[in-house]
Amino acid sequence: MASQPGQLVIVSGPSGAGKTTLLHRVFEQCRLPLAKSISATTRSRRPGERDGKDYHFLSREEFDRRRQRGEFLEACEVFGQGDWYGTLASEVTPSLEAGKWVVLEIDVQGTMEVLRHYPQALTIFVEPGSLAELERRLRDRGTEDPQALERRLAVARREFASADRYRHRVINDEVARAAGEICDILTGASSRHTGEHSE
Ligand code: 5GP
Repeated sequence: MASQPGQLVIVSGPSGAGKTTLLHRVFEQCRLPLAKSISATTRSRRPGERDGKDYHFLSREEFDRRRQRGEFLEACEVFGQGDWYGTLASEVTPSLEAGKWVVLEIDVQGTMEVLRHYPQALTIFVEPGSLAELERRLRDRGTEDPQALERRLAVARREFASADRYRHRVINDEVARAAGEICDILTGASSRHTGEHSE
């Protein structure tokens, strides 16, 4: 076990805000022992996505079974259309004990649930420049049919309204700049974290 426990970092923001690309950049450039928690989901796999890398893709039966066994730190039906997403405790606890900075990319509802277990988690809300830009990104991505896209936009509007529940807000107007800002937030928190544990 590490001499000091790691830190939990939660990153949220509307679907299409560019969180995944942004976090890739943060992982590349930030000199902290970061570990990404791979969520479980019942949604179908998009082209190019790999099981165990992008998500743990589970059948609904398997997801429910694991949920009943208490394996999830949080789980919810993100877009209200039968697709479940959840954070497995096995993705978080061992890494925290090993002193890692565990990054969760989850929605607002999931965040509130995780904060009940880990009130000291560092929360960051990533937003696109505007809702219009978000809509353009989602349309350009072309991974959703028109109905699913509308649902994602409706959820995005609701998520925006929750942004002030996060400790930090970062506008993803330009990936390199926004990644630098997140890295600065984490590094600043790391200095405080180290200070607290060495006192
Ligand atoms: P997508 O289907 O585009 O990969 O993800 C949609 C949304 O699901 C993301 O914006 C993310 O916030 C949310 N999400 C991904 N994994 C989890 C999870 O484990 N728990 C919760 N609560 N939300 C998640």
